[in-house]
Amino acid sequence: MRRPMVAGNWKMHGTRASVAELIEGLANLALPNGVDVAVFPSNLHISLVVDCLEGQSIAVGAQNSAHEAGQGALTGEISPTQLADAGCRLVLVGHSERRQIMGESNKVLSRKFAAAQESGLTPVLCIGETLEQRQAGKTLEVVGQQLDSIIEELGIDAFVNAVIAYEPVWAIGTGLTASPEQAQEVHAAIRAQLAEENSEVAQGVRLLYGGSVKAANAVELFGMPDIDGGLIGGASLNADEFGAIVRAAGN
Ligand code: PEP
Repeated sequence: MRRPMVAGNWKMHGTRASVAELIEGLANLALPNGVDVAVFPSNLHISLVVDCLEGQSIAVGAQNSAHEAGQGALTGEISPTQLADAGCRLVLVGHSERRQIMGESNKVLSRKFAAAQESGLTPVLCIGETLEQRQAGKTLEVVGQQLDSIIEELGIDAFVNAVIAYEPVWAIGTGLTASPEQAQEVHAAIRAQLAEENSEVAQGVRLLYGGSVKAANAVELFGMPDIDGGLIGGASLNADEFGAIVRAAGN
């Protein structure tokens, strides 16, 4: 039985004041026991969030990390070891904004994935197709290649301690959501691809859906058999809305 997870990606949002307010809202929520909850603030706010959430059952993660585990001469980057030292437990790898805007390739992302695990962080691998790719009938091919690149470089055992987030690019921040059936089709394909290598690993790995999830659509999405929770962008910036999404995962 996989334990559901709901994670909030705060992206490049927040000031110290607004982040403190958001954390206060989160700390006051009545969250169900059976759901793992995590938030991913900007790097600048990680220490603040870790300190303020001390004693709460909400994990903190980073939105990105360097492709090297150790410290060194890499101006402007933050190593996963430093993130772990700061209190992070997870890190996003390959969010579509980083793949598309920052040009991160599958090759670089497999190094980031490995460096994160080497540092004791759990990578949350984000994969998903663009609208053009979906319209061309290439969704499963694209998502399959993104997943394969990690399996080929690191082996299937890399997914024993990892989370996968299927996030169709056309649904991120657009208000468009994949239907529960569309999302389930891709999630089932991801699990089947993992099962070709190792069925135990495939059954254990949590597959989150991301893309304009709100309280209003979360119950239906999370009700699908291969959807184990969500990666939430915009709606995670509102504590009450985020809390309602977490409760939907607990149903
Ligand atoms: C995201 O950025 O990971 C995301 C899913 O964003 P949104 O929920 O705003 O679509």
